[in-house]
Amino acid sequence: MFLKAPAFDYVRVDSVEAALSLLKTHGDDARILAGGQTMMAALNMRLSSPALLVDISAIDALRQIRLSDGVLRIGAMVTHSEIEASDIVRRHAPLLSMAVTHIAHKAIRNRGTWGGSLAYADPAAEWPACVIALNATLIAQGPGGLRKIPAQRFYLDLYTTVLNPDEILVDVEIPVGDRQQVVAFDEIARRHGDYAITGIAASAQRNGEVLEHPRFVFFAVANTPFQAIKAEAACHGKAPAAVVIDAAVAALAVELEPIADLTSSSATKRHLAGVLLRRAIKTLASKN
Ligand SMILES: Cc1cc2nc3c(=O)[nH]c(=O)nc-3n(C[C@H](O)[C@H](O)[C@H](O)COP(=O)(O)OP(=O)(O)OC[C@H]3O[C@@H](n4cnc5c(N)ncnc54)[C@H](O)[C@@H]3O)c2cc1C
Repeated sequence: MFLKAPAFDYVRVDSVEAALSLLKTHGDDARILAGGQTMMAALNMRLSSPALLVDISAIDALRQIRLSDGVLRIGAMVTHSEIEASDIVRRHAPLLSMAVTHIAHKAIRNRGTWGGSLAYADPAAEWPACVIALNATLIAQGPGGLRKIPAQRFYLDLYTTVLNPDEILVDVEIPVGDRQQVVAFDEIARRHGDYAITGIAASAQRNGEVLEHPRFVFFAVANTPFQAIKAEAACHGKAPAAVVIDAAVAALAVELEPIADLTSSSATKRHLAGVLLRRAIKTLASKN
């Protein structure tokens, strides 16, 4: 294993336009550098060897969390720690506040960014599942301007998104203001701060005892976040009595074929996903 990165050029830009211009000029030889928490390890292990790193950390326009017109907007360069500390996020997107402390350790959360995690598309990462559960829209900027992409359509495969090489993820819009929305987040990891063995981000509209339009999005089970559509259908429009929860877990077992990782078999992950789904439905039904 290498511990030193190959030689590369480095440019720190202060606008998205400057970054896009460099991506256009250098094509596949250039890579965006955000918080560097994944990129630097990839360079040092020589899993990636770009000729040019385009550092976007000085672009202030990407560092904002703001609320307007029923939409919470979180810029790509907002760090995990800034989300953790944000009262606006806690009030309007509590799912993110629940999830964030599960991401790595404080030192990594201080540097790692929301946009970097979303764009990197690690199948075990928390944020990709959260943005799908929250029906968010990701905004990319490229040579042709801004492009809005529903979170459900953003992830294509392992570490692969619909972003083009000449595009940058700049912002994420999360619809808020629905007072009936309830959310749940849970994951199982070997140690706190490790990547999850299996995790779930969930949301629903609660109408009295009834859960409507539930979203159950699992991570660390497939090449992309996995939305359990059959389990959602088993729960939609029903008060989650034991029989409904059993039906949802049974539906999940049919639709989910987890991919094993170095520590956990497919069967283990399927079992844990069922446990997490059961807990999440109970949480959606009982609190928030
Ligand atoms: C020990 C350790 C444990 C970790 N544990 C977890 C964990 O439990 N859960 C978790 O989710 N993450 C975990 N991470 C990853 C961490 O959350 C990173 O912050 C995140 O994956 C990448 O964010 P970054 O800002 O550091 O991106 P960088 O490392 O700078 O970039 C990552 C990739 O995304 C691309 N990129 C970055 N920003 C953009 C953008 N705006 N537009 C387009 N492309 C972009 C880069 O070109 C690069 O390919 C861990 C990391 C480490 C080192």
